[in-house]
Amino acid sequence: ALLITDECINCDVCEPECPNGAIYQGEEIYEINPDLCTECVGHYDVSQCVEVCPVDCIIIDPDNEETREQLQAKYEKITSES
Ligand code: SF4
Ligand code: SF4
Repeated sequence: ALLITDECINCDVCEPECPNGAIYQGEEIYEINPDLCTECVGHYDVSQCVEVCPVDCIIIDPDNEETREQLQAKYEKITSES
């Protein structure tokens, strides 16, 4: 999963771009739900939030590093539940 750092300026452009609805307004900055972020695997070749963020504050979450296979499995789990 990806992580939004405290450099986030709350511009709100990433939230509507997420195909998994994983981005939400947190208490101070926007946040990513690691249970929903597939790093866009299953939807796009590149992470949509990273593509649009004007300040490049979205990074790989060091506490939630996943393989492509794990991300694909998460995508399949999410889509089978919805
Ligand atoms: Fe959503 Fe993709 Fe960004 Fe993850 S990488 S938060 S799935 S837009
Ligand atoms: Fe924050 Fe970047 Fe999302 Fe804007 S696009 S809300 S700066 S993470």
